[in-house]
Amino acid sequence: MKPEIPRLPELGADWSHEYRLGIMGGTFDPIHYGHLVTAEQAREALALDLVLFMPAGRPAFKLDSDVTDAEDRYAMTVLATAANPAFDASRFEIDREGVTYTIDTLRALREHYPENVKLFFITGADAVLDLATWHDAEAMAKLATFIAATRPGYDIEQARKRLDESGVPFDVRYIEIPALAISSTNIRQRVQAGKSVRYLTSESVIGYIRKNGLYNVHRVERVEGTHIR
Ligand code: NAP
Repeated sequence: MKPEIPRLPELGADWSHEYRLGIMGGTFDPIHYGHLVTAEQAREALALDLVLFMPAGRPAFKLDSDVTDAEDRYAMTVLATAANPAFDASRFEIDREGVTYTIDTLRALREHYPENVKLFFITGADAVLDLATWHDAEAMAKLATFIAATRPGYDIEQARKRLDESGVPFDVRYIEIPALAISSTNIRQRVQAGKSVRYLTSESVIGYIRKNGLYNVHRVERVEGTHIR
């Protein structure tokens, strides 16, 4: 399927003011409150007009691991973001064939949108740490500002030093998000173990996981007689 460039509500024909677009990149397997708080606080701190949640189709650094079907990850992203008018979910990366490289996304958006649209790529600080090793890092540095969400206790100075040493002039802003103590890995493990994930992600996402038997919930139910809570 040909990926469709996301439409930006309220951009309209007014190209005179700066339109600040956040692109929330992640695997979102599944999306959780840590991601939602990150996006909301990034939106506020950097005065973003819109945050587009963009689940990666085939995440570049996860080619050897099991990742849930992109349609399921996208559906959960839609459910979790639906109530916030400043959030939107985009199929842009899941509809693109092949490995998902952020540079391809940034290039396509930069080529399509007018110059007054400024791009901010938001993701986890552990992913940002390796920015210099991402595909075409030099080009990426010219196209967007990067917003790195950190968990409390994260060593930002060390991260800064590592990126500085790479010699690639990235513009990176760090924001500390206490809610990032929540992780997708932990949610998947809890579901598999039949434990509660309530209040770690939205009820709509929990319902979707249950209805579609994600994260081996059926197997757990059959073997242990437990239910996702
Ligand atoms: P990851 O390694 O799974 O995530 C690293 C850490 O960051 C995890 O703790 C993760 O927590 C957290 N995290 C991930 N996305 C986040 C977000 N949007 N907000 C807050 N925390 C987040 O990272 P990934 O999902 O594979 O990749 C993240 C993004 O970077 C994706 O858009 C991906 O396409 C891009 N990326 C691009 C390249 C490339 O172009 N070569 C290479 C690597 C990554 P959770 O597990 O709880 O989310």
